[in-house]
Amino acid sequence: MATLMQPESAAIPKTMKAWALFGPNDLRAVEKPVPTPGPGEVLVKVNAIAICGTDLEIIAHGLPAMIEGELPFNGSFVPGHEYVATVASLGEGVDEFAVGDRVTVEVHAGCGRCERCRHGMYTSCLNYSKRAKGHRANGFTTDGAFAEYTVNHINTLVKVPAFMSDEEATLVVTSGTAMYALDVLGGLIAGETIVVTGPGPIGLMGAACAKALGATVILTGTRDNRLALGQQLGADHVVNVRNEDPNEAIKRLTQGEGVDLVLECSGAPNAVNEGMLMLKRGGKLCLAAFPKEQVTIDLAYMVRNNIYMYGIRGEGRGAVKRGLALMAQRKFDATPMVSAVFPLAELPEALRTARERIGDAIKVVVKP
Ligand SMILES: [Zn+2]
Ligand SMILES: [Zn+2]
Repeated sequence: MATLMQPESAAIPKTMKAWALFGPNDLRAVEKPVPTPGPGEVLVKVNAIAICGTDLEIIAHGLPAMIEGELPFNGSFVPGHEYVATVASLGEGVDEFAVGDRVTVEVHAGCGRCERCRHGMYTSCLNYSKRAKGHRANGFTTDGAFAEYTVNHINTLVKVPAFMSDEEATLVVTSGTAMYALDVLGGLIAGETIVVTGPGPIGLMGAACAKALGATVILTGTRDNRLALGQQLGADHVVNVRNEDPNEAIKRLTQGEGVDLVLECSGAPNAVNEGMLMLKRGGKLCLAAFPKEQVTIDLAYMVRNNIYMYGIRGEGRGAVKRGLALMAQRKFDATPMVSAVFPLAELPEALRTARERIGDAIKVVVKP
């Protein structure tokens, strides 16, 4: 009966334009059936989607997380996970959202039934990629949004305020990753001092969110223009590690004390060792990035100095909703992070712009 009462559903076409992955770096424009939302799910019409470093990894090498089956190079899988969309139709039992709601998304629905999902750690779901168990991670293990339409579980949706542009709202999921890391480091960090290493999208968001939560923020990196943007987003101090030893710079900025927290977003091989040196004894370090090779860590220093180390995976514990809340309160303006906008038909060019960082691209957005 509910479907009969939705005149909008008549406007939903049978097929849609999408980009499917046929092999490593073999993304092709295809016509796919518009998916049907199941119980607890909605069909959304994609407004805008940001390209993430993880998309580039998936398209070139496959998924970073464990998967079952033949994903992602099966000629059907659609990548893309950082998007803003409009609810187009409702699956069975959905009354939390209405057709026409503008929403941004979390990547992971999780399975909702394993121990980790029940703890809110749905990015570390123990049934990762098992569709039969109800798991979804759009753009990772289920179809994402380099397409006109996609299906989302309602647990992954957050309503976007009318005054926020589609482009800005594509960045909310990145703020969610930064917020999850700050969560793990202790949540409310008013009055504490934090170093954020690596001014990529997550590092920039980490600096912005930590500042919004009342921390004194030091951002380190190698590119002056990125560091300047970090300052615009809220960093109190920036250090270009090409010009100054980061450890000495942190000592100088903290009167020799060191900092309470380090949020590592660079993935540099020596980042953990350097981060530990920046911390006060008893400090905490969270890894939001990782090096490609195994690295040697000075564990003796870590133990002797009672340093705590954490790692995060994605954006758990409702962090995306809280990231959006900070952005909706205008605690910082993330829009300068959007470097370029392309139509969906030009996705390969958009991906190249992101991969080669043409024009120092930070976030490249694509619009169907
Ligand atoms: Zn991402
Ligand atoms: Zn689970």
